[in-house]
Amino acid sequence: MKETLNANAQAVLEVVRSSHNHPTALEVYEAVRKVRPRIGVASVYRILHSLAQQGLIRELGRSDEACRYDGHIERHDHAICTACGALLDLPVEVRLSEEALRSAAQAAGIELHSHEVRLYGLCTACRQRLQAESTED
Ligand SMILES: [Zn+2]
Ligand SMILES: [Zn+2]
Repeated sequence: MKETLNANAQAVLEVVRSSHNHPTALEVYEAVRKVRPRIGVASVYRILHSLAQQGLIRELGRSDEACRYDGHIERHDHAICTACGALLDLPVEVRLSEEALRSAAQAAGIELHSHEVRLYGLCTACRQRLQAESTED
C-alpha cells in the first residue's frame, strides 16, 4: 500500500530523515514549523504515527513524550548517554545468535519479531564536561 504523502507529511518525513539525533515529536514539530509555519503540534503527532505505521520511519518507545523517531529504518542498535540522554546509532552491529535471542524471548513469553541492543554510558561530550569539572578548583 503506497499512499502519496501530502506536503505536511513530506516535510515531517524530511525532518526525521535528515536528523541524526532521533528527535522527539516536539523537536520534529519545532523543525517542521520553520518550513510549514501553519502546522499544528497535533498534526505532527498524527503524521509521525502514520509514517511509522507505513514503515517510513521508526518509532522508538511507546508513550508520546518519551517517543523518539528514527529515519534509519534498517535494523540497528543504539547507545544512550545516561547523563544527557543522547540516543546514538551504533556504527557497528552487535552480533547475537538467533538461538540466544529466541531462548531469551521464550523466557519472557514473547514471540520474537525484532530485537535491539542498547548500550548505556557517558557520551564523549559528557565525559569531557565531567572531566573538565573535576579538574576545576
Ligand atoms: Zn551525554
Ligand atoms: Zn537509530
